Amino acid sequence: MTVSQALREAADNLAKVSDTPRLDAELLMAEAIGITRSTLLLNHMRDDVPPAFAALLARRLDHEPIAYITGRQDFWTLTLRVSPAVLIPRSDSETLIEAAIEALAARPPQRILDLGTGSGALLLAALAQWPDAQGTGIDASDAALAIARINAAELGFGERVRMLHGDWRRPGWRETLPGAFDLILCNPPYVETDAALAPQVKEHEPHSALFAGTDGLDDYRILTPQLAPLLAPGGIAIFEIGASQRAAVSALAAASDFEVRCRQDLAGHDRAVILRPGAAA
Ligand code: GLN
Repeated sequence: MTVSQALREAADNLAKVSDTPRLDAELLMAEAIGITRSTLLLNHMRDDVPPAFAALLARRLDHEPIAYITGRQDFWTLTLRVSPAVLIPRSDSETLIEAAIEALAARPPQRILDLGTGSGALLLAALAQWPDAQGTGIDASDAALAIARINAAELGFGERVRMLHGDWRRPGWRETLPGAFDLILCNPPYVETDAALAPQVKEHEPHSALFAGTDGLDDYRILTPQLAPLLAPGGIAIFEIGASQRAAVSALAAASDFEVRCRQDLAGHDRAVILRPGAAA
């Protein structure tokens, strides 16, 4: 069978599990051959199907996300390594970087902290944006930290970044953090425990990065009262939120004397809250 025929057949099958069946088939085929998708489409459609394709296709039919099958995901200007130990970076989260760029236009951040860094996506994107900045990422998962460190090293951030073990659900977690920060980024878990998630999320992505109690607000409740001492003068914190969480998270932040703004993602959903210490803080 040719690549072209196999792609058509695979796309038909993948329609059962994916909203983007043809794209998925092409990405898996490119992975099986070891080339980019554009090279595949330009030069390889009449080749014989590579033997590796069937196994990759079977994994996707079992709802495994493309990013875990290929081990890579693009985010902002970067291509990151990912594994099932980390949440797959989503383009929605780029809203936090856009919000930071706008909020800090007059005052580029020198020290950046990423709470729950996972693959390192937000922190490394911010460091790519501000070449003079230094970054610290923390995560409660050692397996995630291992991925974050690989990404930091492979993308050439070397001495500019530290990835540290840290768990804000345990007392004393702030003590190991080096100083105060001009920018704090955080994409915490925020999904309600009993939310209906797509199988490709629920069966494959780390639950510790997704679920945050019955209302999805546990981590905002823990973090917002503890943020102020981590911020340098003029510093801000930017949190990702679920599309329906703006009012609840804003109220939690206001209770800790933050002024709150919100930014929408490209789909128009509330996605990032920008916290500045208020006059009273
Ligand atoms: N946006 C993710 C999802 O629902 C959730 C990410 C998170 O909880 N931080 O797929």
